[in-house]
Amino acid sequence: MQTKQNIILFGGSFDPIHNGHLAVASYAFDHLGADRLIFIPARRSPHKTDLPTADGAARLAMIRRAIAGREGFDVSDCELKRAAPSYTLDTVFQFRDQTCGAAEIFWLVGADVIGDLAQWYRVEELLGQCRLCIMYRGGLPRPDLTQLIFAFGAERVRQLEKDMLPTPLIDVSSTDVRSRLAAGKPVEALVPASVQDYIRQNALYGTAH
Ligand code: ATP
Repeated sequence: MQTKQNIILFGGSFDPIHNGHLAVASYAFDHLGADRLIFIPARRSPHKTDLPTADGAARLAMIRRAIAGREGFDVSDCELKRAAPSYTLDTVFQFRDQTCGAAEIFWLVGADVIGDLAQWYRVEELLGQCRLCIMYRGGLPRPDLTQLIFAFGAERVRQLEKDMLPTPLIDVSSTDVRSRLAAGKPVEALVPASVQDYIRQNALYGTAH
């Protein structure tokens, strides 16, 4: 009998993708013994008030460059093709349909989302349709899930605890990268060289100076 494939979906703005995203994705891929990890840039995250700075095509191109040659890593434009906002549940359903329910689907989120999680679109249903893996994030304390018990109940929170990933702490955000670029500061340590080249060639994030 064929065993279920493990598919990891990693959604976000990726505006731009940075070394923190790549480090936690690699950790999750190895730790979960995944078959595929798919980056999914959002057209517009329902959790963010601002639109992404770079358009979808540019964010997709930067992800492609960042993951070139990484076995098992892929990128999907499914949220860019749908109308905004980009609801995680719709994307999970899309992948469940594509895999005919024959894959275990994991969805990665950083620890910074915990405060908002109870307000996510149809979140109870989402938790039933995929394994939500909360990752450690550099600059933040170890995620404390007890704050979620009131909204989700003890059993769900126990499962979230089990699925939590003690990812490496890389204290970088896309906001840092964008503001350093706009200020003419170096970002070598924060994004892959291929992504930095794309940013400069396309004069993104205020680099046309
Ligand atoms: P911004 O600074 O623009 O808000 P971001 O750096 O948080 O962006 P996103 O593309 O919004 O990047 O993040 C996508 C997902 O990756 C989110 O779930 C976020 O919590 C997670 N993430 C981003 N950076 C890290 C990091 N350094 N460590 C762990 N998780 C991260």
